[in-house]
Amino acid sequence: MAVTERRAGSIDVESVRADFPILGRTPHGKKLVYLDSANTSQKPRQVIDTVSEYYREHNANLYRAVYELAEEATAMFETARLKLAAFIGAPDPTTVVFNRGTTESINLVANGWGRRFLKEGDEVLLTDMEHHSNIVPWQLVANATGAVLRYLPLTEEGSLDLTNLESLITERTKVLAVTGQSNVLGTLPPLKELASAAHAVGAVVVVDGAQLVPHNPVDVVDLGIDFLTISGHKMLGPTASGGLYGRRELLDAMDPFLGGGEMIMEVFPDHSTYKEPPHKFEAGTMNIAQEIGLAAAIDYLESLGMDAVREHEKQLTAYAIGRLEDAGAVVHGPKDVEVRGGAVSFWYRDIHPHDLAQVLDQEGVCVRASHHCAQILMRHLGVPATTRASFYVYNTTEDVDALVDALARAEAVFA
Ligand code: PMP
Repeated sequence: MAVTERRAGSIDVESVRADFPILGRTPHGKKLVYLDSANTSQKPRQVIDTVSEYYREHNANLYRAVYELAEEATAMFETARLKLAAFIGAPDPTTVVFNRGTTESINLVANGWGRRFLKEGDEVLLTDMEHHSNIVPWQLVANATGAVLRYLPLTEEGSLDLTNLESLITERTKVLAVTGQSNVLGTLPPLKELASAAHAVGAVVVVDGAQLVPHNPVDVVDLGIDFLTISGHKMLGPTASGGLYGRRELLDAMDPFLGGGEMIMEVFPDHSTYKEPPHKFEAGTMNIAQEIGLAAAIDYLESLGMDAVREHEKQLTAYAIGRLEDAGAVVHGPKDVEVRGGAVSFWYRDIHPHDLAQVLDQEGVCVRASHHCAQILMRHLGVPATTRASFYVYNTTEDVDALVDALARAEAVFA
């Protein structure tokens, strides 16, 4: 295929690929075709080098010390916070709490806000396409507070069914917690519309941004998001990087989640006073190198431009859906790339996804075959699991072709 054809969107994919050392690997003697970025993304050398340089040149713990290394580490960490805040349109860096990512962030909101403010009979509205990390923390808090969980249903196609929204978002609704982009179907819920319906009844809007933030331009103020979770490892950053955006009034009003060193002002035998946000939510030694690496990932994404990232994935997704359907696969989720992102789940012939993924692996093609931590959605789809190919800035139409070629080989194996 000509290089020009590989340039989907306005991203120069060839030069992007050259930044990712792992793409030179040849598993089973085959070219690596990495189609599992919804699970975790690969990392460019700019991120790897930043983390390595941090450990080689600057490593020290934050805040406490007055020596040069500690001042450098603290400045780098706080610069990372500024970058993440700007990346998501947060009005001020004190609204960005660092932690290990989406799972920890939702647990923080459910415990810090939910346990403080939810009462018996209050409702938390989720959707049938949530990841378990946006379900289980709410179940735990509902058990403790007497709050009730409700679920927005899906259409046959796999979009949110908003026809009965008014009967589901009511005066009893205190939280709307919804994914920004489905990790299984790619569906992009209409966040602005949902946020204004939730705000009209005084509910707090929590968005699981694990898949939204890496792949789309995001502005929390414009979208009306009260809490947004960020998983750095899915956006070219290190594992255990990321955090939580929270509206400052909400962060001020809620309780800390983890207690310990660094988050306190004063400690007495029977109580403590806490620092202002974000430090109130950052107990103990932080994931310093990871967040500094995330800042390098944000620089990288910004150099490409998030509009271009989204455009690139739209083109790849449309190409993949077309090729998969032509090959006889049943593709789940909306087909219109304006309302979906680049996680493409499908069912191929009668081959179980786990068997299929094993054959694809032999061809160097990495996909995920599982329930994708979305068992409620699997029940809706009527399948135990799906095979999922997911795309990012380094993927090309050639990768999609390699996937479809490998499917043909799998069919031959299982025929
Ligand atoms: N929500 C969604 C939609 C996800 O895709 C994932 C990761 N698979 C998570 C939450 C959990 O994110 P993390 O691993 O960063 O905690």
